[in-house]
Amino acid sequence: MNWIADYIEGHGEEFWQRALKIHGYAELAGEERQSAAELCAMLEQAGFAVEQGLGSQPTAFRAVYGSGGPVIGFLCEYDALPKLNQTEGTCYNGDGRSGHGCGHNLLGVGAAAAAMALREEMEKGGLSGTLVVYGCPAEETLFGKTKMAEEGYFKELDVALAWHPEDHYCCGEVCHKAMDSIRFRFHGRSAHASVCPEMGRSALDGAEMMSVGANYLREHVPDGVRIHYSYLSAGEKPNVVPDFAEVWYFVRSNRRRIVDQVTERLIQVARGAAMMSGTEVEWEFLARGNSTRINTTLADLAYGCMGRVPLPRWEEPELRLAAGLGESLGLPGTICGELTPPEGRELAGSGSTDFSAVSQTVPSVEINTVCFTRGTPGHHWAVTAQSCSPIGRKGMLYAAGVLAEMGKALLEDPGLLSRAREEYLARAE
Ligand SMILES: [Zn+2]
Repeated sequence: MNWIADYIEGHGEEFWQRALKIHGYAELAGEERQSAAELCAMLEQAGFAVEQGLGSQPTAFRAVYGSGGPVIGFLCEYDALPKLNQTEGTCYNGDGRSGHGCGHNLLGVGAAAAAMALREEMEKGGLSGTLVVYGCPAEETLFGKTKMAEEGYFKELDVALAWHPEDHYCCGEVCHKAMDSIRFRFHGRSAHASVCPEMGRSALDGAEMMSVGANYLREHVPDGVRIHYSYLSAGEKPNVVPDFAEVWYFVRSNRRRIVDQVTERLIQVARGAAMMSGTEVEWEFLARGNSTRINTTLADLAYGCMGRVPLPRWEEPELRLAAGLGESLGLPGTICGELTPPEGRELAGSGSTDFSAVSQTVPSVEINTVCFTRGTPGHHWAVTAQSCSPIGRKGMLYAAGVLAEMGKALLEDPGLLSRAREEYLARAE
């Protein structure tokens, strides 16, 4: 008897309808009221005790089932991205509103569904322990889980299980980059740019000279460092010396201490630019995220479970959608169908995620399942399109099955938990 598979199959349509609703809400980071309420309602109906609003974040939640150890955590995300609205389809049909361009509607429902299926297994199979589903808002700003970890959440868990929709399968050895998100604000003195330019001190000059300095800095940083920026404010009319300018920087590396060093040098660049332009500069950290502490013990477990749960079979509707998107975006037009075994080592990731904050707090793993056609670019309308498509549906239900099986294995085998714990401690930096 496989209670997990039966439960997911029996509730598959309900899970899908919830994922479609959240796809429609498409609420931005920190504003996910309806999306969080949807997931809480789903968990409450399944017998979880739900607490809405955690610490400083009203759209975070915690849903608990069971008592005593082991304590297995499941992480939900549900925030959308600006301007990526789109319905299922192979050509852009968005209207500029926000959309689930990272597939977090699938992510949130899939993680909650995993916990619900495992609860069924515990009841029917007589397994004991505690399941905690964490509703984690604002992933896209790197803020949500980072703040929750700072406020003491996640510590209660023995293991945290997570997943993210992707265009390939991965059992979770990716070290996502540590990242600082910093806004620099230059304050100058306004003047008529032609009549009395000598009276003016241009905040825009300060910001531009900072960019020049930052671009020279690039040559002298360790491999793998990324520095990128955008101007948020750069003055109004050319004949008015701008008294205010604002630039937003991200600094990333696979090691937190390298981010600290490069950020410190970037701040010196900003100070120098302010001095040269006769302006003042101040800065604000929006987020300071860590890199991922991987766990190969949990990655091995994930691979085993990913092989045991039947992989999605891609049929006519999915293949047609993939081919259409392939044509409109110049992608291969195919959908990945193979599992890749773990490599037993850290793989360098290119992006950043606040999942890393959880991975530094307790032993954690984040798997990827196929919800998108091969080569789909991240944070793109094509993701939004597939997050309400049969590809997304199958990938989400598969992820739910895998995470539930992983949880079951961890509840059944205390040795596995202690090996994961030992590895977590050994990988501390
Ligand atoms: Zn995402």
